[in-house]
Amino acid sequence: MHTKNLAGVIFAVLLIVLVAFILYWGSTKPVTVIVQAGHEARTSGNTGASSSRYKETEWNSIVADEVARTLQEWDIDVKRIPAKVPKFAKAKIAVSIHFDSAKKPCRSGASIGYPDKNSYDFARRWEKLYRSQFPFGWHKDNFTENLKHYYAYKQIDAEKFLVLELGEITCEKQTAWLKPRLKKIGRLIAYTIATELGKNVQKPKLP
Ligand SMILES: [Zn+2]
Repeated sequence: MHTKNLAGVIFAVLLIVLVAFILYWGSTKPVTVIVQAGHEARTSGNTGASSSRYKETEWNSIVADEVARTLQEWDIDVKRIPAKVPKFAKAKIAVSIHFDSAKKPCRSGASIGYPDKNSYDFARRWEKLYRSQFPFGWHKDNFTENLKHYYAYKQIDAEKFLVLELGEITCEKQTAWLKPRLKKIGRLIAYTIATELGKNVQKPKLP
């Protein structure tokens, strides 16, 4: 009886260790792509841009969800994260989704941020594709300190990392164009990521 109990205890302990290991491994294992919705779930600090009608975080979430969904559809391993980066985040490609704001409406537009030259060619591919659609202004890469020194560059161990500003949420002309296209923009981003990974996927149809 006594030995039976001991065996049971040992078995239970081993089981707990195994479950703990699986949970730990699951949370730390590198993924191929990390997609972040900028400012998502933040209640203080930089909670994102807003206009009288729209909130950046809501749009970021819609686009990031569509990027992740499309990548999954193409069998690409993806982790969708909020503003708070999980510990030990590691990926081949990381992309963070944002919309800009401007004190004087319509002075801003689209732009790209990245930590170093490893992401330069990737940035050019996205710019080429999005410029063919987005009919408003562009800033040069890393035009703000927030783009140049984005906090998550240090928290996500990624070979390539782009912060995408997809347009200005305080400009009515831009929001009128952006709003009905948010999911489509997400699919374009997924397409750029997939081709960057060398996957042969079908280019999303453009209206
Ligand atoms: Zn933002």
